[in-house]
Amino acid sequence: MKVTEHYDRASEPLISFEIIPPKRGGSIKTVFDALDKVVSTVKPPFIDVTYHAPEVQVEEQSDGTLKKVVRRKRPGTIGLCAAILHRYGIDPVPHLLCGGFSRESAEDALIELNYLGIHNVLALRGDDHGSEAPYPVGGSKNRYASDLVAQIQDMNQGNYLEKLAHAEPTDFCVGVAGYPEKHFEAPNLDWDIKKLKEKVDAGAHYVVTQMFFDNSRFFDFVERCRDQGITVPIIPGLKILTTPNHLSSLPKFFHLNIPDALANSVEKDPKNTKSIGIEWAQKQCLELMEGGVPGIHFYVMGDPQPALDVIRFATKK
Ligand code: FAD
Repeated sequence: MKVTEHYDRASEPLISFEIIPPKRGGSIKTVFDALDKVVSTVKPPFIDVTYHAPEVQVEEQSDGTLKKVVRRKRPGTIGLCAAILHRYGIDPVPHLLCGGFSRESAEDALIELNYLGIHNVLALRGDDHGSEAPYPVGGSKNRYASDLVAQIQDMNQGNYLEKLAHAEPTDFCVGVAGYPEKHFEAPNLDWDIKKLKEKVDAGAHYVVTQMFFDNSRFFDFVERCRDQGITVPIIPGLKILTTPNHLSSLPKFFHLNIPDALANSVEKDPKNTKSIGIEWAQKQCLELMEGGVPGIHFYVMGDPQPALDVIRFATKK
């Protein structure tokens, strides 16, 4: 089923999860072990799997010279999605990027997904890993997520990159990212929301937000989106703060604010960070649900347990 169909049919807020593929060479068993835990507590309607573009790394050779190499640290997004569908019967949502893909290879990936019976995609630009970001040579590129959304919608109309006589339309439900505290490159929040509207106008069916720790930022964001004519579902994304390092690493990598009350509690009692973070997220969940959100999307990375502890309390499951 499509993500939007899940929301349309739901009688209560839906709980979904986002996981990352293991590092190159890692075992799929680690993912299954994590998902077995999730599924035994709550059967999520869908599970997102992140996509990781190749990155340029500098490696020292045995003779001491340095060489730039291009590596994908975490391959396997599409295979993992197929495995989730097969093993759990849960709809997977693969993330697809502009970075690391030409328009041609994006089309190929979408054809693979279509054949696998995977009809949901989260369309993203991806982060720029420097001027040498290894976009495939020779192909045209999607610059912004809105370009990728437009490409997917073209395929949904049966318009592939090459004019094909008997092209079958695909039927993808497309999600995009939204930023309650604005994307770090955007000059201001309203400007960023205008760009979000362009993604929706290009055919995106729903929005999942970047993580945030202050619900007022989310509620304000939703209000501004509605004022600018964005009518699709907006799903809050939550991460649970579990280590004192998160106080600096999350703002650094995700360009968000951590409220004083949360930061002070962790600073006073760092040994209890996990329970402080879980309690904070429980309050966030309850308030978001009372505020009428269609669902809550948990960024669990590898370990779903803190999210499951939050859900147990917040939904009495
Ligand atoms: P866009 O929507 O293209 O926006 C990027 C920036 O460009 C914004 O500042 C926007 O305001 C601006 N912009 C947009 N259109 C235009 C235009 N026409 N002209 C000028 N400026 C414009 N990254 C990964 O690598 N893999 C993942 O799996 C992944 N999953 C994610 C899931 C979620 C829910 C979120 C919130 C983020 C995820 N990211 C992932 C990170 C994401 O790739 C980065 O945040 C990236 O920097 C922006 O992606 P975007 O799709 O929001 O970009």
